[in-house]
Amino acid sequence: MVNKGCYTLGSQKSGIRELFEFGNKRAEEVGRENVYDFSIGNPSEPAPAEVNQAIKDIVDNIDSVKVHGYTSAQGNASTRKAIADDMNDRFGAGVMEDNFYMTCGAAASLTSTIKALTIDHDTEFVTVAPFFPEYSVFATVGGGKLKVVEPDIPDFQIQFDKLEAAINKNTQAVIVNSPNNPSGVIYSKATLTKLAETLTKKSAEVGHTIYLIADEPYRELVYDGAVVEYIPSIYPNTIVCYSYSKSLSLPGERIGYVMVPSCVENWKEVYDAIAGAARNMGYVCAPALIQLVIERCTKCRPNLEAYAKNRQLLMDGLIADGYTVADPAGAFYLFVKAPNGDSAAFSEIGKKHDVLLVPGGGFGCPEYFRLCYCVPEDMIKRSIPIFKDMIDECK
Ligand code: PLP
Repeated sequence: MVNKGCYTLGSQKSGIRELFEFGNKRAEEVGRENVYDFSIGNPSEPAPAEVNQAIKDIVDNIDSVKVHGYTSAQGNASTRKAIADDMNDRFGAGVMEDNFYMTCGAAASLTSTIKALTIDHDTEFVTVAPFFPEYSVFATVGGGKLKVVEPDIPDFQIQFDKLEAAINKNTQAVIVNSPNNPSGVIYSKATLTKLAETLTKKSAEVGHTIYLIADEPYRELVYDGAVVEYIPSIYPNTIVCYSYSKSLSLPGERIGYVMVPSCVENWKEVYDAIAGAARNMGYVCAPALIQLVIERCTKCRPNLEAYAKNRQLLMDGLIADGYTVADPAGAFYLFVKAPNGDSAAFSEIGKKHDVLLVPGGGFGCPEYFRLCYCVPEDMIKRSIPIFKDMIDECK
């Protein structure tokens, strides 16, 4: 016998995986260059040169036992101090090394935080569509559940009446992701201020703190001078789940952190519970070598030139073709309205043209589809007339 939930999770194929396999099959039949795969959210820019240089320096110059040994569960103090210094320089965050817990990426940050905040089977987490589908998996890790608030179409900010209605005495936290996967939208300061007011009001109403979990792997991926607010300065009970997967193009290295700033009510208790949750799930410590790399690279920022160019090309081309696109202020995705109103059916039309796009149903927004523009520029150029044929087929 095995655990049914785990079996289902492990044996079912995700929609993206199926598209990936379809793409591979078609590549064999028609040639890789004739498959327009916009499905996978994997950074296409190499990690900054400083990262690779740091790996070499560390491996060449630091005692191998230290480089590859266990670190303390929360991560090296020197690494956490370097990150805290950077956050203080950039945001006036007023944080110190003790506010950081190093993790194996945002997924581990989120599961540890969610598990730490799950009181019992009645515990609820609320998120706003469109949302990263893995939240449904993460929310259940401690036995709780996820509630999804309908999307605010076409701006993709937050419908506050719906959010308020979703919160009750079992709500422990609201999870937000800005810049957003899949929409690329960044929450405005007005939205975050209203969110803070709502959570403050609801916390008083239910008689306990409702935390805000800010999932921020795309924090540094922004275009045209867009601003990503430092959320704890707007809502103090914010726990930040961060990752270097996208900002330093290191998704396979599994490195990130949870930041529980001291302005969070009972922050030390929350921090210790996160440490306990990570221990319970067997994380032990974040990868030691990469912690040392991060310590030296806190000032590194992604090279956004290629993403910015691709974003503009794809957005302009699709709009010229007649598509409606959500404001792609950040991340590396475009969220596009399916011309026939049904993104699952439109994805099938795409497959007939060897164009792979992710239907929005899994993100809680079935009218839209996601395109990841971490692809060759030439592929985008060649795809625009095909998108035109696809929209014409819906007329
Ligand atoms: N949160 C969001 C919104 C994401 O898009 C992703 C990955 O794509 C993650 C979390 C998980 O990131 P990581 O690779 O750091 O675990």
